[in-house]
Amino acid sequence: MKHSGITIKSVRELDSMREAGRIVSVAKVKLSEAIEPGVTTAELDSVFEAEIRRQGAVPSFLGLYGFPATICTSFNEEIVHGIPSDRVVQSGDILSLDVGAVVEGFHSDSAFSLGVGEITEEQRKLIDATRESLKAGIGQAKAGNRVGDISAAVQAYAEPLGYGIVRQYVGHGIGRDLHEDPQVPNFGIAGRGPLLREGMTLAIEPMLNLGTWKTAVMEDGWTVVTADGSLSAHFEDTIMITSNGAEVLTSP
Ligand code: MG
Ligand code: MG
Repeated sequence: MKHSGITIKSVRELDSMREAGRIVSVAKVKLSEAIEPGVTTAELDSVFEAEIRRQGAVPSFLGLYGFPATICTSFNEEIVHGIPSDRVVQSGDILSLDVGAVVEGFHSDSAFSLGVGEITEEQRKLIDATRESLKAGIGQAKAGNRVGDISAAVQAYAEPLGYGIVRQYVGHGIGRDLHEDPQVPNFGIAGRGPLLREGMTLAIEPMLNLGTWKTAVMEDGWTVVTADGSLSAHFEDTIMITSNGAEVLTSP
C-alpha cells in the first residue's frame, strides 16, 4: 500500500525487513571484529559477504547502479561509496563501512564509522557525534511526526558542535528497493515534509564532516569525499515506524 508515494509495509513484509535487518546487525559484529591494522578492505568485503550469505541473505549493493562490491569502505576524508580494494587499513584511520542485505526481496541498509588503532581526540569526537546525531534523528521517527522532525533533530545536534552536515547525500525510504521515497535529509525544519505512519521503513544516515559540508566525487566515479579534504564520519540504521516509536532493525 502506498501513502503519498511512500510504501506502507504489510505485516509479512515487515517480518522480511526485520530479518534483513537482523542479519546485517549480526554481520556488522563479524565485520567489526575483522577490522585491524593490516587488513585490506577487499578482505573486509569478503568477511561481510560470507556472513550474510551463510545466514541466507544476498548482498544489497553488489551490482546496484553498477557498484562492484558487497560493502562500501570509505577512509578518512572519504564520506561514502568507497570501493573495497587492496588498500590496507592503518592505525589512525577513520574507516566508514556501509553495508546491506536482501531477504525475500527486502533490503536493509546500515553504516558505521570506527577509529582504527590509535586515533586523536578530534577523530573520536567526530565519530561519537555522528553516532549521537543518528540517535537524535531516530528519536523523532515516530507515527504522527514528519520527516522534517528527523532532519531538524540531526541538525540541531550536529550543527552547534561545528560539524559540516553533508547535504547532497541523504537518508531514504527503504523496502523492495534500497532507495525509496521519501528522502530523509539531515537538515531541515521540524513539522515539515511527509507524515510518518506506522509500517513505513526508513534509512536514517547522518554524515558529518570536520570541515565544510560540501562534497566532491573522485575519479573512480564512486568515492565521495569532503571538498576540503577534512575528515568525515557516517552512521546509518534502517528503522521501522511502529505505534510506539521507531524499531531499529539493523542494530541491537
Ligand atoms: Mg547505507
Ligand atoms: Mg542508505
